[in-house]
Amino acid sequence: MKSEQTENSCNFAKPVEISVTILGSGTCVPSLQRSSCSVLMKIKDSLLLFDSGPGTMRRLLETGTTIFDISHLFYSHLHPDHTGELVSFMFANKYSSGFRRKIPLTIVAAQGFSTFYNRLKSVYGSWIELAHGFLKIVELAAHANDVCSFDHFKIRSSPVEHIAGSIAYKVTSSGGKSAVYSGDTDFCENLVALSKDADLLICESAHPDDLKVRGHLTPSLAGEIARRANVRKLVLTHFYPECDLADIEKECRKTWAGPLMLAEDLVQIEL
Ligand SMILES: [Zn+2]
Ligand SMILES: [Zn+2]
Repeated sequence: MKSEQTENSCNFAKPVEISVTILGSGTCVPSLQRSSCSVLMKIKDSLLLFDSGPGTMRRLLETGTTIFDISHLFYSHLHPDHTGELVSFMFANKYSSGFRRKIPLTIVAAQGFSTFYNRLKSVYGSWIELAHGFLKIVELAAHANDVCSFDHFKIRSSPVEHIAGSIAYKVTSSGGKSAVYSGDTDFCENLVALSKDADLLICESAHPDDLKVRGHLTPSLAGEIARRANVRKLVLTHFYPECDLADIEKECRKTWAGPLMLAEDLVQIEL
């Protein structure tokens, strides 16, 4: 696993509160370098997975994590490049040599997720159901800010500008560190507010500045959100192939002067 260079040697003795791994920095476009957009966060003994598009489970294995270790699964929205492996994930929990999940799974998503999951069950039936008591679904508001709390962290969510039911998440550890995952979005005041003073903003930057697409950000717009939110570090992700032909860092530097990372699969960030 690749590790970020330590920026400040004074940090080395501080305990890590949130360990973030970019599992996928890509999109719906198949790529050996960039798997679909997905992020893993470890907070104490909880393992949080944000989105599970194609390739997510293989990338998880590359971090030494199995699907049975995931305690919380968050969905930003229901596009297939963010939810495509939900069916495979649930089915793999029913591996034929025995039910191997030892801990319950909580799925957090915007209102409408239960309907989506029930529709999948109308196709796949019990193949994608966990044993009784092992699955909890938490639906957050799709059109308003919302909050929910778990043992070692709390979640705030806000609607963002992509498709109906798209939400961004802010995770705050019990020790006060915070990371925001934008999911897919266009420029959005809600994302600025949600990200206010966050330690880390993992922000989509789907297309270069001159190829802006409605419903998605560009490097300079993502930088503008980071600047206005006064985040401590910005990570750009969700790169369509045309991003690899552009100078993404230079475009982001038009609006953002702070710490910046362009995501690659399996890069790790510690807060
Ligand atoms: Zn999308
Ligand atoms: Zn997407």
